[in-house]
Amino acid sequence: MGLVKIIGAGLAGSEAAWQCSRRGLDVNLYEMRPVRSTPAHQTADFAELVCSNSLKSDSENTAPWLLKEEMRRAGSLLMEIARECAVPAGHALAVDRVTFAARVTEAISGEPRITIRREEVKAVDETGDVTIVATGPLTSEALAAEVARLSFGSTPSEHGSSSRSPHLYFYDSISPIVEADSIDTSRVYMAARYDKGSPDYINCPLSEADYARFYDALLAAQSVEERDWEKLNYFEGCLPIEEIARRGRDTLRFGPMKPVGLKDPRTGKMPYAVVQLRQENLRADSYNLVGFQNHLKFGEQSRVLRLIPGLENARFLRYGQIHRNTYINAPTLLRQTLQMKDHPRVFFAGQICGVEGYVESIATGLLAGIQAAATIAGIELALAPRSSAFGSLTHYVTHADRKNFQPANITFDLLPPLDRKIRDRKERHRAQCELALKEFDAWLAGTAPVLSLS
Ligand SMILES: Cc1cc2nc3c(=O)[nH]c(=O)nc-3n(C[C@H](O)[C@H](O)[C@H](O)COP(=O)(O)OP(=O)(O)OC[C@H]3O[C@@H](n4cnc5c(N)ncnc54)[C@H](O)[C@@H]3O)c2cc1C
Repeated sequence: MGLVKIIGAGLAGSEAAWQCSRRGLDVNLYEMRPVRSTPAHQTADFAELVCSNSLKSDSENTAPWLLKEEMRRAGSLLMEIARECAVPAGHALAVDRVTFAARVTEAISGEPRITIRREEVKAVDETGDVTIVATGPLTSEALAAEVARLSFGSTPSEHGSSSRSPHLYFYDSISPIVEADSIDTSRVYMAARYDKGSPDYINCPLSEADYARFYDALLAAQSVEERDWEKLNYFEGCLPIEEIARRGRDTLRFGPMKPVGLKDPRTGKMPYAVVQLRQENLRADSYNLVGFQNHLKFGEQSRVLRLIPGLENARFLRYGQIHRNTYINAPTLLRQTLQMKDHPRVFFAGQICGVEGYVESIATGLLAGIQAAATIAGIELALAPRSSAFGSLTHYVTHADRKNFQPANITFDLLPPLDRKIRDRKERHRAQCELALKEFDAWLAGTAPVLSLS
């Protein structure tokens, strides 16, 4: 029927290869390991989970469950293997990582239409075979340079004079994000530093005693275990807070916890220290802790950050993390089908397309596989419905703010609000999932010519 080239046999690339081959396409799947490895992978197996072994919550009516449920309904190979390799983990779907990667490798290797090539790809022919780039956050340098070349589209004036494309991002740290309605508004105040601009920031004031308690807990908190690849040379501009704290008792008060220009209107005084929260999305239902990137274990983060006045009961949508990441500026470069606006024969999937997380990477691999098959078949496929987790994730990736684009996990935050108000959170999420699955099923059925598996 046709040939598709897939670069990277990680989570996204393996799922994409399976989806394409099951639709009758021949696949050339390129994986550079073990010829060349990444700083995080340890084996030559496909779909290796580089850190935790959790594919997040599988509790019904949570956002990560919804995404997984949609994938199961769409015939995901990796979801099927995850079920077979599941280990007890409460409400989460966690897997035996060794068995998981081994089974994915076995399934892909046994597929007659997939040819595996163990080599590093350094170039992409944007006019040649339909190609899915799924090389992940640790894309090899040569290919990253090639992606930068492709990212210079037909509108050079947008790109300034920099020799590196601004549409390929590298970052080392992310700050934690909390749900807005979990912030105790009686303990915080809105203000802009020196009253410049509108008072959009939430400010959590700390007294000297609060600061001492927080500082001591921060220094005593456990960091994520160090591995060789984590011995990063941090940029001075985005040091983890625990690293700043180690430089002196007051260093944080001259950095991310600087109180100057932030008088508390209730006391008329400047607090001893301040933590600022910046609105994360247009709906203002999530906020990030400005400058609070850190490398602490997730459990330690919730314990230590809840010592901040106003955040005692904070619910975390995302924890702070630090690692190398390579991703394109998808809102500028991609259509919602995950293909490049300027080069429609080139698709992106996985972390490099601007999603965050194992499950999100697999989901975009699945979608890119279906869309690539449709492109080769000359079929224009309807987009996954906006109400679904698939549709919301790809909508976010391609419609988020271009200037401050950051990869995202699936959360209810990305889903559109319902057309009626439901006050109870649980009930609201249940209704959102019900609608999502109903519309997702209809989409699956309607796209049967390309979606039906052989
Ligand atoms: C250190 C680290 C820890 C992470 N921890 C977690 C976590 O705990 N939980 C979570 O949900 N997410 C985590 N992530 C984020 C993300 O979910 C994973 O990186 C995930 O594996 C991304 O899937 P992917 O398919 O996009 O990339 P990958 O799974 O990394 O697959 C990309 C593949 O492409 C190959 N490749 C790269 N360049 C080339 C090339 N030029 N030619 C051929 N092959 C190439 C690589 O060898 C790799 O096999 C972590 C990321 C990093 C970097």
